[in-house]
Amino acid sequence: MMPRRDVFPHVIEMNNQAQRRFGCCVYLVYDGADWLLIDIGYEDSVAEIIEIIRQMDFQLSRCKYLVATHADVDHIQGLKLAKEMLPQAEVIGHKDAKRPLADGDRIVTYAEIAAQGISIDLPKIQLNRTIDEGETLEIGNLSLDVWHTPGHAAGQLAFRLGNLLFSGDNIYRDGCVGNIDAHHGSDIPDFIESLERIRDSSVEWLLPSHGPIFRNDRKLLQSTIDRLTGYQHMADFGTCAVDWPLLEQWDDELARGFDPETA
Ligand SMILES: [Zn+2]
Repeated sequence: MMPRRDVFPHVIEMNNQAQRRFGCCVYLVYDGADWLLIDIGYEDSVAEIIEIIRQMDFQLSRCKYLVATHADVDHIQGLKLAKEMLPQAEVIGHKDAKRPLADGDRIVTYAEIAAQGISIDLPKIQLNRTIDEGETLEIGNLSLDVWHTPGHAAGQLAFRLGNLLFSGDNIYRDGCVGNIDAHHGSDIPDFIESLERIRDSSVEWLLPSHGPIFRNDRKLLQSTIDRLTGYQHMADFGTCAVDWPLLEQWDDELARGFDPETA
């Protein structure tokens, strides 16, 4: 049997368990014999991840849930294969992730970024059930609270377990956030609200979908919130910006007429 390297009681992160990087973070939460997986990552690492889980002496038939934090290909490409290998597990995610997963929407999920020559397989996946804000997932005696934290993607979920938050693509240890992109349904005002919620919560640890686990540090969260607050008013973010103050200044200057003395 492979020793379990819990990052916190009842929580294993599969990259940490394997001591190398598969892709996104894959969290296994367990109590007694029951367990769930938060994200699974790319298809090509699914068999190895499930083999490690078996070697850690988990019964594959006791996997209750395969959770999609959102519909991005790097988090969910392996879901179809994982469901085939763990057929009794319920595949769950937010209602806003349901259609892109079911249709295999190649744009919203980032399976296809034509301008960069990125084109990868996206198996279609039917969620068995949708979950949303206020619900709980029960694993043995543990309860995970479902948080809807839109911003990066409309269907982004996070999960609270005591003082831990499985925080998805909301924020990483260096203060970066999940990609902000109009084609992805990103929404900067929503993103700021999600980050404020995390900042103001009593959660002590953030377990992100990429990179190392880190503390819920107010200063880090605030500096990221301040950055995104600025993004709302910058043309750099195209249609994700809420306004562009330079246009109003231009209106005023057009009314006055161009004057090289004051330009
Ligand atoms: Zn991601």
